[in-house]
Amino acid sequence: MLSSLKRTVRSSALLSRLALPLYAGYRTWMSARPLVGRIPRFNGDARLPVVKLTTLAEYQRWSQEQSSELQGRERAEQSLMPRQFGEFATEGYCALCERATVFNSSFDYAVKDRDSRAIPNLREHLVCVHCRLKNRVRAALQLFLQEFVPESGRPVYISEQLTRTYRWMRGRLHSVSGSEYLGDEIPLGASLRGIRNEDLGRLTWSDGAFDFMLSFDVLEHVPDAGACFREMCRCLGPGGRLLFTVPTNLDRHETTVRAVMEPDGTIKYLLEPEYHGGNLKDPSQGTLCFRYFGWDVLSHLREAGFARAEIWLYWSQYLGYMGGTQCVIAAYNN
Ligand SMILES: [Zn+2]
Repeated sequence: MLSSLKRTVRSSALLSRLALPLYAGYRTWMSARPLVGRIPRFNGDARLPVVKLTTLAEYQRWSQEQSSELQGRERAEQSLMPRQFGEFATEGYCALCERATVFNSSFDYAVKDRDSRAIPNLREHLVCVHCRLKNRVRAALQLFLQEFVPESGRPVYISEQLTRTYRWMRGRLHSVSGSEYLGDEIPLGASLRGIRNEDLGRLTWSDGAFDFMLSFDVLEHVPDAGACFREMCRCLGPGGRLLFTVPTNLDRHETTVRAVMEPDGTIKYLLEPEYHGGNLKDPSQGTLCFRYFGWDVLSHLREAGFARAEIWLYWSQYLGYMGGTQCVIAAYNN
């Protein structure tokens, strides 16, 4: 219902022009309203097993050792696929909500398989009907809380502020700062109607301002990921931890560069331009994807100053974390 409304608005230039300022105002207003709840405990089946690896060779060895398990996962996912296009639901348990739930998915952003069949992009779906957070966001929040066990009150930064994810965090941890990139018309570090403007490559936070930094599917959209890694490392105190998600190609060592920004600011496309999601100024337009990360992201993190870095692998049908082997990237500042 909501997605068909969004599609109708996006398909009409006039409706989009009318709806945009309203929508922006609504999101700004909502961002100041935390979704209050307790920190989930992840006991028993709610605990997510995670495999922490550092190289492509380790991943290939792990994939071989786990081949029958991985085939089983593939079969499990196939059995959930609907026979026709449209929205579909799967049952499971939301570890964030700590209750049985239904995860909703659709064929929006579907990818084509080898036989040109549309495969739903489960990473961007499996939305819990209670918290209304999707697969990759729920998993990243669970892994952040489960693996890093942040004490309430420790300063956490998340590179978003107009989202449910930010509101969910604000409703549980007591020192969460968020921001959005609002463009260079507003000074960096300044706020517009309570929304702080930050550029991940030129952060205005002081050195060591945070114990934890989180970034969910942002770093593929910045022209210079290395500059962002250096800045995030600088803003983390001793023992600080960074956790982020990005589109990752686990079968490749090298990052696939899709586009680069020239020194004069023009964009050079090396592969067909790919746009994700909606951008802040105009949700009907996507944001350019500069790269798909490979395992070399871990050496780029170390070059940026992190002491070590890992890719964490996970998958769970019960917890609604599907779409093949899923991953987050963790970096440690000693
Ligand atoms: Zn939930």
